[in-house]
Amino acid sequence: MKIVVVGTGYVGLVTGTCFAEVGIDVVCVDIDVNKIENLKKGIIPIYEPGLEEMVHRNFAKGKLNFSTSIAEAIKGAEVAFIAVGTPPGEDGSADLQYVLGVARDIGKNMDDFLVVVTKSTVPVGTALKVKNAVTEELGKRNDSIQFEVASNPEFLKEGAAIEDFLKPDRIVIGVESEKAEEVMRKLYKPFLLNGHPIVFMDVPSAEMTKYAANAMLATKISFMNDIANLCEIMGADANKVRMGIGSDVRIGNKFIYPGVGYGGSCFPKDVKALIRTATEHGYNMRILRSVEEVNEDQKLTMFHKIMKHFNNDITGKTFAVWGLSFKPKTDDMREAPSLVIIEKLLEHGANIVAHDPVAIHETKKILGNKINYTENQELALKNASALLLITEWPEFRALDLPELARTMKEKVVFDGRNIYDANELHSAGFSYYGVGLNKI
Ligand code: NAD
Repeated sequence: MKIVVVGTGYVGLVTGTCFAEVGIDVVCVDIDVNKIENLKKGIIPIYEPGLEEMVHRNFAKGKLNFSTSIAEAIKGAEVAFIAVGTPPGEDGSADLQYVLGVARDIGKNMDDFLVVVTKSTVPVGTALKVKNAVTEELGKRNDSIQFEVASNPEFLKEGAAIEDFLKPDRIVIGVESEKAEEVMRKLYKPFLLNGHPIVFMDVPSAEMTKYAANAMLATKISFMNDIANLCEIMGADANKVRMGIGSDVRIGNKFIYPGVGYGGSCFPKDVKALIRTATEHGYNMRILRSVEEVNEDQKLTMFHKIMKHFNNDITGKTFAVWGLSFKPKTDDMREAPSLVIIEKLLEHGANIVAHDPVAIHETKKILGNKINYTENQELALKNASALLLITEWPEFRALDLPELARTMKEKVVFDGRNIYDANELHSAGFSYYGVGLNKI
């Protein structure tokens, strides 16, 4: 079976590579010539554990190929995935220009029956727009090649994308016909052997499922941050509250860690897009509006604590930042809370020395030389007035307190992820600020 995946970003590259891994012939297409040339040389554009080796292996076997030409790639394909970006437009709605552009390219170039599948996160009704775009292009060619549309939202997590794709919690597929279901079932068969569930549904429900999933996860995060802020006011400990509620299976212990707010390429834009879709249809998503509001404020709570600790004067002070990416195990800096915190500190005259295991290169593209970067986490601490832990990479978990005391100028730690032990730090003479822990 042969497929084509159009858009070779996080989702497209992982999707294509994982299908190649289970024996499907895959061509990944992108308009970014550099990206495709680099991939052919084995240079991977993103950091994702396990991906590089899997790309090399399948490229060498000839199972995975890269191209800038849909016309070439689509020959003989049974399925075409659309996996391009859907960034937020100015009004927050998902910008569909790339998705529909690809749909038109597919219509211009397809030469046989095809299932056109949207993997990008798209609002309800997009598959219909894709269908119309393909039909229009076929019409211009006076061609009546049969095709089907389907929606197959992606639930992979950056940092664990390969594992998530190969061992999915569930595969959701929206189809309009038995024929499309049959093709998609054949394609996903290798993933189903271990009992991973595949859920077929109508196309609009599949499109909505992706937004509902991300909106629910963002809601859990904002809810817990709201509770953590109240814990600070009331003198309760958000870590204990988290454990207290997480053991209830109806609530669950995932996504209830208070922190610096959610970021990344999905939650912020998908929450915005869902609010926008609802508004366009005369419905007010009241919960999601609050989820967004809480999240925007949460990104600044560490900044406010820093200002309070230093009596509103941080001019000339140096802060060590550990962790820049929006979460561990990725170099993705899209909507990373670290950027908001750092910009705010710079505005108030502070100097930043930052370390991240993989995201320095991406951060430099955004912040350039406004801040300093260090090769290792210890170097960032030199003469720092405080350590700011923003992203909880595993290597940041164990603190060498005597070393911190020797290198830092002042013994202060702001822990944006509650990974350190407040008692241990206090006993060693440090001021320690977590999230939802200290009475303010
Ligand atoms: P990305 O920005 O990393 O990659 C998109 C790619 O599409 C880029 O390489 C770009 O050059 C390419 N592209 C744009 N227009 C093109 C065209 N006309 N023809 C060929 N290629 C084209 O995006 P991403 O993070 O992979 O996200 C893709 C979609 O998947 C989005 O809708 C996103 O919401 C969704 N999604 C992302 C994740 C994630 O963790 N990143 C998870 C689930 C779903």
